[in-house]
Amino acid sequence: MKNYEIGTKCVQAGYRPGNGEPRQIPIVQSTTFKYDTSEAMGKLFDLEAPGYFYTRLQNPTNDYVAAKIAELEGGTAGMLTSSGQAANFFALFNICENGSHIVSSSSIYGGTFNLISVTMAKMGIDVTFVDPNASEDELESAFRENTRAVFGESIANPALTVLDIEKFAKAAHRHGVPLIVDNTFPTPVHCRPIEWGADIVTHSTTKYMDGHGAAVGGAIVDSGKFDWMAHADKFPGLTTPDESYHGIVYAEKFGLEGAFITKCTSQLMRDFGCIQSPQNAFLLNLGLESLHVRMPKHAANGMAVAKYLETREEVSKVSFPDLPTDPYYPLAKKYMPEGGCGVVSFELKGGRSAALEFMKKLRLAAIETHVADARTCCLNPATSTHRQMTDEQLAAAGIPAGLIRMSCGLEDSKDLIADIENALK
Ligand SMILES: *Cc1c(COP(=O)(O)O)cnc(C)c1O
Repeated sequence: MKNYEIGTKCVQAGYRPGNGEPRQIPIVQSTTFKYDTSEAMGKLFDLEAPGYFYTRLQNPTNDYVAAKIAELEGGTAGMLTSSGQAANFFALFNICENGSHIVSSSSIYGGTFNLISVTMAKMGIDVTFVDPNASEDELESAFRENTRAVFGESIANPALTVLDIEKFAKAAHRHGVPLIVDNTFPTPVHCRPIEWGADIVTHSTTKYMDGHGAAVGGAIVDSGKFDWMAHADKFPGLTTPDESYHGIVYAEKFGLEGAFITKCTSQLMRDFGCIQSPQNAFLLNLGLESLHVRMPKHAANGMAVAKYLETREEVSKVSFPDLPTDPYYPLAKKYMPEGGCGVVSFELKGGRSAALEFMKKLRLAAIETHVADARTCCLNPATSTHRQMTDEQLAAAGIPAGLIRMSCGLEDSKDLIADIENALK
């Protein structure tokens, strides 16, 4: 469906039923698949023939939905994972190993920060974190001879910084490594990192893609543009024989468009098993069918709330990249001209205690460890996700004690603003 607009792809890409087949994506609720001969099944195990043999690696329902997400991002192949965490781990670990090094924006989701700086460090993979606003020279100095990937978030959760995708892609490509962009917050409806030079795109589909707080999930999309063979010495996993698959060389057998995802499925999914359940993939697809209708509404509600908060004297600071007063406005205009997402963060002058009192008084916005839901929700990082930190540590990390992250849902913005006004009083 390459030539269709994004909204049409949201509704119809990925699954195109034939004559007499179900209109809605079938949920293939089966762990395994039947074959007439052992020889036929053997071909699957050798990656000689396409097909399914065990749902720990692949399932048709998941593949329909992954194909839709790949089309939305403008990539050549995609896969679903059990969570966004699994997606980012797989995307990185598919090309990194003991002794590798990653350059990552420092402004990323806390879970991904832990994954890279603590858990992957235990696997012998080093990281250098760089300020998302780093100059080209500063970025250059972060690279090492063993750097294998560059990582960042298009709109970072929760800092709401906007990644200069072109700048990061150029730096990555100068060093012969791919740029991986977590595009969870704007979704491909509002930002398509591949069009700006990103090589791999990841998602926590738990957020706007599902959009209803119903199913945890993740996705990985390959642009099909990164030439692994041109940097063969850096990526032996893709460019030398895989002994666990009878000596297949992924980059040779599956080409630019298929090597990354095929290796990720046949090695990492086989060995780690972070598959999304087909039932959740079905729910995810229901969310995707209205993603292009919901994203503009989320962004408009975020804008209405952000503009209102700016007028209130109880509020010392508002962050929302679509606001002309936001430092990331120029990058937001460039990479997501139709709007970003519905997440707004703001700081109350009264600090931690004012934030807690304010949140108690909200009637529509629920206190939740979640964002990107149809229902508005909010969180005070200082007393929840970051509660082990002192006020001084919080300030140093750019998360003041009075900061509130509000994820504007799909309610009427008038009611959201009235709810905030009442709580501020
Ligand atoms: C939530 C989130 C993740 C992690 O996703 P899960 O589905 O919760 O595992 C990764 N990246 C970003 C930007 C997120 O917001």
